[in-house]
Amino acid sequence: TAAQAAQERGWQLYLVGGAVRDVLRGMQSPQETEVVLTDIDLVVDGFHQSATVGAGVELATVLQERFAGARLDVHGAFQTAALLWHNDPVFDSLWLDIATARTEFYPYPAANPEVEASSIRQDLYRRDFTINALAIRLTTPRQGKLLDFFGGVLDLQRGWVRVLHANSFIEDPTRIFRAVRFAVRFGFEIEPETERFIRHAIASGVYERSRSLNPRTPALQARLKSELKYLLQASYWPRALRELDRLGALQCLHPQLRLTRELWRRLQLMDRGLRRFENWHHLSHWRMLLEVLLSQVEMGDGEFSRAAVAQQLQLPEETVQRLATLGERCERLQGGLKLARRPSEVVQVLEGEELAGLLLVALGMGRSLRRKVWQYLTEWAHVKPLLNGEDLKQLGYKPGPQFKEMLADIQAGTLDGDFGGSREAAIAFVC
Ligand code: ATP
Repeated sequence: TAAQAAQERGWQLYLVGGAVRDVLRGMQSPQETEVVLTDIDLVVDGFHQSATVGAGVELATVLQERFAGARLDVHGAFQTAALLWHNDPVFDSLWLDIATARTEFYPYPAANPEVEASSIRQDLYRRDFTINALAIRLTTPRQGKLLDFFGGVLDLQRGWVRVLHANSFIEDPTRIFRAVRFAVRFGFEIEPETERFIRHAIASGVYERSRSLNPRTPALQARLKSELKYLLQASYWPRALRELDRLGALQCLHPQLRLTRELWRRLQLMDRGLRRFENWHHLSHWRMLLEVLLSQVEMGDGEFSRAAVAQQLQLPEETVQRLATLGERCERLQGGLKLARRPSEVVQVLEGEELAGLLLVALGMGRSLRRKVWQYLTEWAHVKPLLNGEDLKQLGYKPGPQFKEMLADIQAGTLDGDFGGSREAAIAFVC
């Protein structure tokens, strides 16, 4: 439908980006790669500037009228339209982006095939890697033709993530994280020269510059956050972090950040805990892993403090606060736990502590203190006292300060096993 609408208007329409890559990968190894397209990128090319601005929106509107149930979003001064179907009977969940080919450097007259080739070529040249810079033409003539200006098909075959030009990572440092993501996800290699460009970009301080430009570049930090999110919520996050570390790219988050054995241990513990305990499931998995990464950084000053880095990444305020107060919380809880011998004393120290903050602190503790926190979280925090307020009332006690104290004593006695699990023993204690 979109191709037909484009054709009627004299425009060209291309399927681009990840969808082309994934379809070609699927054709290469159909047994291994199941291609489910949930995210489709189209580029419309209207030959000259005046026709193209808004062309994507126009096509998206045609599609929306034809296939009801989609939400239409327009961004970037009408250059990109996104159609979203959610739980649709036909499309299930589908995200369709229609962008307008950027032709600003080629404002040539209409209907010139050279120019047409130039503008889609230029659009593809702006992309990150050769494997993402492929396009399939959806309109006639030459409908179905694969456009491969930069050797993307060969790179797919040899399993390479390769940039299109030397400055790519300087231009957009989030591509370093994307390179790692695609390499690890597909079991590809980062092509040697591309790796040199990455190392050069990092050595040249690309992230320091982007950070100092912040807040003028909040968009860059937001994109970096979404790349980190992609990586950390994927099953391959351990390999991705190792690869980022190998490339020195973790220093982009903080100059001191290295994937040490200690950090690795903490990440594994957090990951296992988050997966194992149901009552931790409300915590955002990827964000907790990121907090573990950042918490490992020594408390620096100013823009290099953990909290400042979290703030630059536009993480939620609760994360920023948690990282800012981590040192203080660590000292307070460690001090309390060292003195706490009985379960009831541990509960007294930890009660009311926010789960995420407690987990971060616990990861840094020695084995015996950490075990106390674990037992508190998995067991002691859920222990119900053998007698409650109602029971005490029935025994003839009236609410008041003494009543509260009795409840606290029963709770402590239950936790410490003083009543041997018996209600009668608890009643005898009260009476
Ligand atoms: P995925 O399957 O992970 O969604 P994708 O290739 O579709 O992979 P997106 O992040 O959705 O990834 O990006 C869509 C396309 O936009 C990419 O294929 C790439 O061509 C282009 N792109 C995205 N981010 C960048 C970037 N930082 N620099 C250059 N091109 C980019």
